[in-house]
Amino acid sequence: MATKQCQRCKQDKSFASYIAVNSPIHGGSLPICRQCLAKQIDDAYREDKGWETVDKIC
Ligand SMILES: [Zn+2]
Repeated sequence: MATKQCQRCKQDKSFASYIAVNSPIHGGSLPICRQCLAKQIDDAYREDKGWETVDKIC
């Protein structure tokens, strides 16, 4: 089974573990696995104080 190394956790995972994209830049799928992607989105939300700011304004 073909695998691809995640650019974030450096683990070899099957293509099923990656989100497929049409962009040829990413070689048909994102460079990071679904788990890392989920974590990255989670981190981004935590770092983004946007909602806190909205709360203060309202
Ligand atoms: Zn990963």
